[in-house]
Amino acid sequence: MALFRPLVLMYHAVSDDWDDPLAVRIGEFEEQLRRLVDRGFRGATAAEVVRGARDRRLLHVTFDDGFRSVENGLPILERLELPATIFACSDLAAEGLPLRVAELEHGTSLEERNTLTWDRFRELTKSPFVAVGSHTQSHAHLTQLSAEDLARELRGSKEAIEAELQQTCDVVAYPYGEHDERVRKAAAAAGYDLGFAAPGRSLNFDVLELPRTGLWRNESRRRFDAKTRLSVRVARELGLTPTRGSTR
Ligand SMILES: [Zn+2]
Repeated sequence: MALFRPLVLMYHAVSDDWDDPLAVRIGEFEEQLRRLVDRGFRGATAAEVVRGARDRRLLHVTFDDGFRSVENGLPILERLELPATIFACSDLAAEGLPLRVAELEHGTSLEERNTLTWDRFRELTKSPFVAVGSHTQSHAHLTQLSAEDLARELRGSKEAIEAELQQTCDVVAYPYGEHDERVRKAAAAAGYDLGFAAPGRSLNFDVLELPRTGLWRNESRRRFDAKTRLSVRVARELGLTPTRGSTR
């Protein structure tokens, strides 16, 4: 079995003010990435981590949902020369609407859930370190959709991103980390080359099921160091140690 060795981090928001597991503080974010660079990791794009799938020192940063506070992290990524992909829901980006999913309806700030607009995405992608991928149109539970709706969520978001940003979008991150063989086939049929999963058992190297390491607010230094280590990632994905349930 081929093993995917690079480290792909899954973040959501970067905010001091939003006291939610999804939002790492700006200082935490910077410290985490600096520690990895100090440990010898090198920044790589999504395509580069796949080409270098056996290289355990490659690092790619991803952000799901396209929250506006991601902008707080971008100067840090540029300073450290670490490429990142922001996964956008195309239905939200015209107006930068807040992400409204049941999993977030627990009294947290609606403002913090606002998402980046196409204008902001156009500005941000001027940076060589920022790419935009699809997180579907509406943050759908893909495994539960009809074939028609599944194709629409995947194709529609890709087309919208390509039309708005005038660049190819060939990377998708499955909302909630939910995918199965039918979803992966639909993603390939829609024209995606790469699909990112959430933390879970996706040890086998499959370009439409790339594993990521999820990071949450108040991650201790020790825990961060452990979960970003290849041996620990492998153990977690094999179910040898308890994993955290959240896969948003
Ligand atoms: Zn999401």
